[in-house]
Amino acid sequence: MPAIKQLPSHVADLIAAGEVVERPASVVKELLENAIDAGASAIVAEIAHGGMTYLRITDNGCGIAPEDLPTAFLRHATSKLRTAEDLNAIGTLGFRGEALAAISAVSRVDVLSCVSGADSGASLHLEGGVAGEVRPAGCPRGTTIVVRDLFYNTPARMKFMKKDTAEGAAVSGIVTHLALSHPDVSFRLLRDGAEVLHTPGDGTLQSAIYAAMGRDFARGLLIVHGASDPVAVDGFVSQPLQCHGTRGKQVFFVNGRLVKSQLLTAALEEAYRNRMMKGKFPGCVLHVTLPPDQVDVNVHPAKTVVKFAADKPVFDAVYYTVLDALDAQDRPASPAAPPQEAPRDFFRTMTAREYRAAAQEAPRAKTAPNPAAGGVQLRMHDVAVPHKPFTAEVMRGGQPVTYQITPPAPPVKAPRPQPEQQTIEPEQVKPWRIVGEVLKTYIVCEDENQTVWLIDKHAAHERIRFDALRAAATPPMAQSLLTPLAVDLAEAEYDAVLEHLPLLESFAFSCEDFGGGTVLVRRIPADIRPEDAPAALEELAEKLALGGADPEGARDALLHTMACKSAIKAGMDTSPAELAALVAQVQSGAVAYCPHGRPVKYALSRYDIEKMFKRA
Ligand code: ADP
Ligand code: MG
Repeated sequence: MPAIKQLPSHVADLIAAGEVVERPASVVKELLENAIDAGASAIVAEIAHGGMTYLRITDNGCGIAPEDLPTAFLRHATSKLRTAEDLNAIGTLGFRGEALAAISAVSRVDVLSCVSGADSGASLHLEGGVAGEVRPAGCPRGTTIVVRDLFYNTPARMKFMKKDTAEGAAVSGIVTHLALSHPDVSFRLLRDGAEVLHTPGDGTLQSAIYAAMGRDFARGLLIVHGASDPVAVDGFVSQPLQCHGTRGKQVFFVNGRLVKSQLLTAALEEAYRNRMMKGKFPGCVLHVTLPPDQVDVNVHPAKTVVKFAADKPVFDAVYYTVLDALDAQDRPASPAAPPQEAPRDFFRTMTAREYRAAAQEAPRAKTAPNPAAGGVQLRMHDVAVPHKPFTAEVMRGGQPVTYQITPPAPPVKAPRPQPEQQTIEPEQVKPWRIVGEVLKTYIVCEDENQTVWLIDKHAAHERIRFDALRAAATPPMAQSLLTPLAVDLAEAEYDAVLEHLPLLESFAFSCEDFGGGTVLVRRIPADIRPEDAPAALEELAEKLALGGADPEGARDALLHTMACKSAIKAGMDTSPAELAALVAQVQSGAVAYCPHGRPVKYALSRYDIEKMFKRA
């Protein structure tokens, strides 16, 4: 064995640098975070060749005093942490004191800085971590750091760099995320001289989203705002119909820090369950805020991993606040009102029937997450039977609108006198005129504001069936079959059925093992025709086999299948009375998506139609 020796410090620095500085984007991230920590209100990032040859970050923050300049580039030198206790309550983005040392170890750096109040500033040049002399320099308040020739002295690392465009795109991603987490700071990014991003820094998340993620994304968003002590959740989520093909548009911040978290993703997507198509993902920009001692951000140098002291309160807070936002938008202010109309208190414009329907939806919501933790504020399910005034925010015509709602008395347990009910029906909403049915699938209607509605009759009915099945306290009615059905199943499904016999029984499927992959079915749900039963059972078994451990999901899967099998089908004849009943439900806003997330209705305004005919 050769003798053991401590590494020379410059070698140790290079190794340490490799952990902090992976690529230009990580340099930009560290420098932008320093600028934010320095209290800057405007930050400009410029890069050339994806940041490999040149990148410059300019801020108007507090600056670095000339005598501190060399110190700032030493390892473990920081102004943000003094004692071990401070680690438990970190309020800044940086705290390790490693970034500047790491960056300067693998590049050529020039720094120019001026603290507020000083007449002039100072500059310093470093090459491979070796500092030159501090020289006086004239400059405005703030700090400019130029990084040239990244990895010039670590050729092994250089080999791992992607094309300039890929590195530049990664830099854009970082700037975007920081801009979204700091709407009060104006960010500009110039790539090879062209401005690719510029946020106003006006303090509103919407402006930042608009500038950083584009108009299309910003347009289809719903406000999310709520808290379940001690976790607050704020931001925007995409409308179920504007979901995306990947999770790339999910942006989460915990206490202002960008994180990747399966927990947060799961909570978000759970809220969209039954509203979104398979293979689609919601987008979001969500800020989760909780006391610093409830989060451990110190788990990975890149710091996008997060650990919570307790997962459940965080999951619940995100899940319920997002669910509230989605539920709120499913209940339109007035089904007949054009979106551009001035907002009105939507409880007062509801008919008594809609009001009761909304109230009946309340039990559908899961129970309050944790009574000890204070419950979620602004829960639309709870306020469906509201007792005190509250505010709610919903999107109207693409704009977020805050409603001050003073709800009427809760609906009847014992019958109420008539006049009281009339107070919640000040305005009669005209039923949509049913023009007819086309392709034996779509109902065509017109509302009093000349909007034409197309309704998918199967999707609408399926949703109604699904909600009814889900709300029902009693298990579905069963019908006994004269001759038991023998259903052959694939192995996994066969096992799943045998494993879940009591669950299936609670859904009115009585099955018994017939051996060799066959089950005998003696009773089936009354809503399902016997000829549909084998297919329904197979579908359930498949879902049970896949869904396994999640009883809530399995239950929903069962209900999906039952709703689908018992709903009016496209291509089948439907009586006018049935069509009218469907239209009334859709008009009331009670159904918006089928349980698989497909839309139930589609609006065509007069303008849309005139545009088709080139009249507008
Ligand atoms: P950390 O951010 O973890 O403290 P860094 O190596 O990133 O470590 O920075 C070291 C120190 O240099 C910081 O603590 C801060 O005092 C100072 N500093 C770095 N960048 C700036 C800046 N843009 N404006 C003002 N001070 C800065
Ligand atoms: Mg730092």
